[in-house]
Amino acid sequence: MTVTKLNFKNLRIEGSSRAADRSWYRIQPPGLAFDLGRGAQRLIGTDELFLSHGHLDHALGLPYVLSQRNLHGFGPCRLYCPRPIRRAVENFVEAAAALEEVEYRYQLRGLEAGERVELGHGWSVEPFAVDHVLPSLGYHLIQARRSLAPALRGLDGAELARRRRAGERIDHTEEHIEVSYCGDTAAGVFDLEPRLFEARVLLLECTFLGSELETKARQFGHLHVADLAAQADRFANEALVLTHLSRRHRLEELRQEVERRMPNLSPELIVFGEHPNRRQQGKRAQRG
Ligand SMILES: [Zn+2]
Ligand SMILES: [Zn+2]
Repeated sequence: MTVTKLNFKNLRIEGSSRAADRSWYRIQPPGLAFDLGRGAQRLIGTDELFLSHGHLDHALGLPYVLSQRNLHGFGPCRLYCPRPIRRAVENFVEAAAALEEVEYRYQLRGLEAGERVELGHGWSVEPFAVDHVLPSLGYHLIQARRSLAPALRGLDGAELARRRRAGERIDHTEEHIEVSYCGDTAAGVFDLEPRLFEARVLLLECTFLGSELETKARQFGHLHVADLAAQADRFANEALVLTHLSRRHRLEELRQEVERRMPNLSPELIVFGEHPNRRQQGKRAQRG
């Protein structure tokens, strides 16, 4: 299995994804996983695990990762999933633990859309509603950054120090969505969660190409490239990372289709899994 690695200045995203086969992403900082695919060695040291939904191309790796953590002596990890499947996730994991005659160390918490998880050091994860065929969540990775209060910009250091001594609050906190991960979803997500268009990096599934597959995409709760094209003007992201492509399509076909249907797309287009050289060529083509 090839692992794709992407760098966005301070942020590293690695993972692997193909529809109905595997989807997992590890993001550092803060050190978390969105989904677990069918299990990956690289996920074993990750303490914060966010499951988008129960389809096995996203969830099967869960007992594997917990089992490997046991084997290598890691402490308890925190596992989050949509609230309606909490019991099923617990049963699934506990069945594996019983099979191995061990106890896995984890805390499991079911989440609803909007129920934030604080991870420390200014990082948090906020789940949001998506449009899939069973209970599912997407996740925003949010970073809070402190900066000088806008009203005080332009004042010199001595004046700022004087105000601070006098008890005035001179900084304020701004939140930035660094990554939005949509899990598996159909086009309803664009109305359910318009904030995803503002995320710095948008990890978005695009499972199907070809007009004959538009009905299938809707039926199985996935995005078709035509659904993205209908939103082309709204993507204000720094990078649009397309994932979860059906194995019936080649990665190059996805890039060609997006470039053909969305010639004025503003974010950098990244087809997850594509060779890095191809990404560079795409960038050059955009500039030229
Ligand atoms: Zn999937
Ligand atoms: Zn799914």
